[in-house]
Amino acid sequence: MNKDCVRVAVRVRPFNKRERDAGSRCIISMVQSSITLQDPRDPQNRRSFCFDYTYWSHSGFIRDISGKYLPEDAGGRYADQETVFQDLGEGILENSLQGYNATLLAYGQTGSGKSYSMMGYGANKGLVPKLCEQLFSSIRENQDSRRCQVFFSMLEIYNEQVIDLLSRGPRVAAGLRVREEQHRGFYVEGLRTVPCETAQQVEQLMEQGTRTRTTAATYMNANSSRSHMLISLQLKQIFSKESTTKHSNINLVDLAGSERQRASGSEADRLREGMAINLSLTTLGNVISALADVAVGKKVVHIPYRESILTKLLQSALGGNSRTVMIATLSPADICFEETLSTLRYAERAKRIQNRAVVNESPTERLVRELKAENARLVQRLSRLGQDGRRPCDETKELRQLLTHNELQIKAIQTLWEQHLQEALKDLEEQYAHITKERRMMQMHPYILNINEDAQLSGVVKLFIQEGEWAVGLSDSTPKSISIKGLGLLAVFYDYIKLMPMVTEANQMSQELHKGVDFKLEIKNLALSDSKGHDLKKDIVVRVTTVESKQVWMWSKAKFVNRKFLMEEMYQQHQAAQSEENSCVSVVKFERDQDPFWDPVEPLLLGTAHLWLQTLAFCIPLEEQLQVLGSEGTEEAILQAQLVPCSSTGLALSEDDILIDPSELLRRRLDFQLVLEQCCGLRWVREAHNRGVQVGFKMFDCSQPLYTPAAWHNINPLLDHRVHFASLQTSQSLLDYLQSSAVVLELWGLQDGCAELKSSLDDMRLTSDSIVIIDNPGPADTAEESDLLGLRFFVDEQGRLLRDFSGQLEECVSKLKQDVAVILTRSVAVMSSTSCGRDPTNPTPVEN
Ligand code: ADP
Ligand code: MG
Repeated sequence: MNKDCVRVAVRVRPFNKRERDAGSRCIISMVQSSITLQDPRDPQNRRSFCFDYTYWSHSGFIRDISGKYLPEDAGGRYADQETVFQDLGEGILENSLQGYNATLLAYGQTGSGKSYSMMGYGANKGLVPKLCEQLFSSIRENQDSRRCQVFFSMLEIYNEQVIDLLSRGPRVAAGLRVREEQHRGFYVEGLRTVPCETAQQVEQLMEQGTRTRTTAATYMNANSSRSHMLISLQLKQIFSKESTTKHSNINLVDLAGSERQRASGSEADRLREGMAINLSLTTLGNVISALADVAVGKKVVHIPYRESILTKLLQSALGGNSRTVMIATLSPADICFEETLSTLRYAERAKRIQNRAVVNESPTERLVRELKAENARLVQRLSRLGQDGRRPCDETKELRQLLTHNELQIKAIQTLWEQHLQEALKDLEEQYAHITKERRMMQMHPYILNINEDAQLSGVVKLFIQEGEWAVGLSDSTPKSISIKGLGLLAVFYDYIKLMPMVTEANQMSQELHKGVDFKLEIKNLALSDSKGHDLKKDIVVRVTTVESKQVWMWSKAKFVNRKFLMEEMYQQHQAAQSEENSCVSVVKFERDQDPFWDPVEPLLLGTAHLWLQTLAFCIPLEEQLQVLGSEGTEEAILQAQLVPCSSTGLALSEDDILIDPSELLRRRLDFQLVLEQCCGLRWVREAHNRGVQVGFKMFDCSQPLYTPAAWHNINPLLDHRVHFASLQTSQSLLDYLQSSAVVLELWGLQDGCAELKSSLDDMRLTSDSIVIIDNPGPADTAEESDLLGLRFFVDEQGRLLRDFSGQLEECVSKLKQDVAVILTRSVAVMSSTSCGRDPTNPTPVEN
């Protein structure tokens, strides 16, 4: 038996557009097999790790005409897909050809390059397709010595459910079952496994699987980064000369994003989803930890394979009969420091796991061998029967029967593959016809492609627009229509066209009058949504910028049109003045507050981020890195925020306080804190350093927004702002709100000379500890309820006052005691002095 450690590779990808736009710094460096990570907040703090392979795919590459990424110079340090395949893929292939099970896992946060490494994009084929190509070419090369059979399957684990990505039937609502058999271990019951003979067939199946995944994701409104994808290749090699068979399972796993799973999103299902995915990924982490402990000789009682679907299916890959490789993918950017560090720690533990891989021999093949051997013996016996001249008819008959039976059995075992293959080929032909048809249609007709946040699932579904008239618009049920939901864009588009020439004219006037002001049309709220996640009403606005001082205003359509008239007036006066005395410089001087090109500067809404409140209904804390989206969808900043359920004194609740059923909160007091920690990569400040920001938010029924203090001149300002909210008697409407809404965090831009935003506390109910009371009964509630609530508030306050009071009382008492003691000692002194001859009736001794 062999002991093999899990081999671990790390790979760092190039900056993506978002990171580049945010001016990110690369905090990873690699020297040979060691990788060093720098803490962006404390550059002296560096942590180094060693792995079996390290891949620098961050820089030093070019893109050839086919779109393939290659090292800039031959022998450069950039690790392309081929390099990664040579190290990891070929090893896996070799192992499986030798009859070992092999597993490849991709681990890392969403967007770090798992799918790129595993599957690849376009010309940059990943490990899986390359592995298949090489596998089939190696099968062809060795055709003389062995016959090979390859079975392919592809599944997804989403929310602890197994979805067969190759299934032709309707989706099983509860997912497929995972079962256990003594010899086989865990397996998915009813999973479709398709026999394949070429790499093209496998590629087609993968395409089909991805398509199913896309539709499933759309259908379930699912976030693909939370699902695990598992591709299995079963390789069976039959060496007829040696009459042995080797079996191996190749598992290729694209894991869910490793970032701490968050319950963000508006559907009620999200929370469960977050927790369930956590289950598979956290269990994987626990299994890895336990196995790492085993490897260093610690006593481990239990390895929790059975606690999640993923670990059940990967049991043999982890600490069992498999040669396993993990590729941990990393983002190079400073803002991903925490995630990257946690990925590296995870990978470090995985490195220690020891497997015991053995070459697999199949029982069915052994059976064939045994049957053949038995038949040979039978034939011998039969022939001997003839030679001896004896004719025991019965025995001959019996032996012949046995022989035919055995032969039939051998045939049955061997034809299974041929039959399967025929069926699969028919299937593939059908599918191929479908794909060819689609390709032809793509050349002939315009079509609409789906976009998905996961690059892997984008552009999979095609909607063809064929001859005839097609209506594109808001939900319409005419047969040839493409319905677009949610966008009230048409009216805006019309305004846009109308205002365009006016903006051009305004710009010309500004230039001629040396105003140094630039006008630009924008669509307000194009990318923004309200606290329920619904699109906000779109509108046209004009962004006005002073070219020199970079001051910015947003003007409504009406204001712009009005100002444009005034500008024209000014312009005409200027023209007239110029023709009168054409010699001197004659820009008409206006008082500032008369100047249509000018306005006092004000804070500007830069964008919003949504912090979903659902976890609060379960008393679960939430920590998020939120993307602040600008009106037109640009990333304005990353905002780190937390929601912390707490006690009335502000102590964070523990895990024991997590609720299974949110309705337990009804009529009870609920306390929580909103923490705004830091803003990172502020575009607003990067563009001009003399600017600042504030974050504003409105919670539930608060009528006025609250604002953080202003943070000036800093691209990554610490906000460190904490607000304690309490609902004294949680109502159903607050519960509904928590479960379906987000608090919209508004990022406001401050500019030189503008007043900062102030929280107006007038209409707000605050306790004397500055706890903001929410969930105040509206006028719709009965007077009785409102009285009750008032009473509760009163009692709550009184309770606190009483506590304060008792504290003060205690202080008073102890002070009193001290005073008494002083008096006592004094009177003792007096007594003793009287006993020295003074008159006891006169308490104040009179000197002389
Ligand atoms: P994940 O599957 O981890 O969520 P992806 O593999 O989809 O992430 O990668 C996100 C994006 O980064 C993709 O657009 C991909 O093309 C790009 N990317 C990832 N790794 C690399 C790499 N090594 N070289 C170039 N681009 C990469
Ligand atoms: Mg992916």
